[in-house]
Amino acid sequence: MREEIPVYRKDGIIPLEEIKRSGLFPPEERLKKGPVVLIECPEEIPCNICVDACPSGAISMESIIALPKVDWDKCTGCGVCVSLCPGLAIFVVDVSKEDKAYVTVPHEFIPVPKTGDEVILLGRDGRELGRGKVVKVWERNKTYVVTVETPKEVAFEVKAIWVKK
Ligand code: SF4
Ligand code: SF4
Repeated sequence: MREEIPVYRKDGIIPLEEIKRSGLFPPEERLKKGPVVLIECPEEIPCNICVDACPSGAISMESIIALPKVDWDKCTGCGVCVSLCPGLAIFVVDVSKEDKAYVTVPHEFIPVPKTGDEVILLGRDGRELGRGKVVKVWERNKTYVVTVETPKEVAFEVKAIWVKK
């Protein structure tokens, strides 16, 4: 167990540095290969739904309260874990392209976007990060899984979308 009190317990915002410290940030070489999971779950909580959710066996845990571990080579970036994480804490990022990035987020609000929609990108603190274009939408257990094309510089910060109608 860690001894220091993480900063996100004070304001509820998990900084990217904390994800990197937790070993949950994909290695540079894996990021270059295409879509890969980004699990933002650095707290030791009694949950292991993502382990059984992954059809590729890419996520493991040493115990029910341990942090998830990812086998980066097994992850296909399919997004199934995004749809099943009860904490909406899992994303898929694709920064392998030259100009644009693709971020897959869980979406449990209405309206539900459709492919081609322009949406507002929201960061980990809820602030607007710019605009993105929806390229894929699917649903499982009433959670929508939305992939948006984003500027590359915000790929690791986009955590939600706002569909303005
Ligand atoms: S994105 Fe797909 S393959 Fe990767 S960890 Fe999630 S469920 Fe497994
Ligand atoms: S399912 Fe979500 S909340 Fe549960 S351990 Fe996995 S990432 Fe964390």
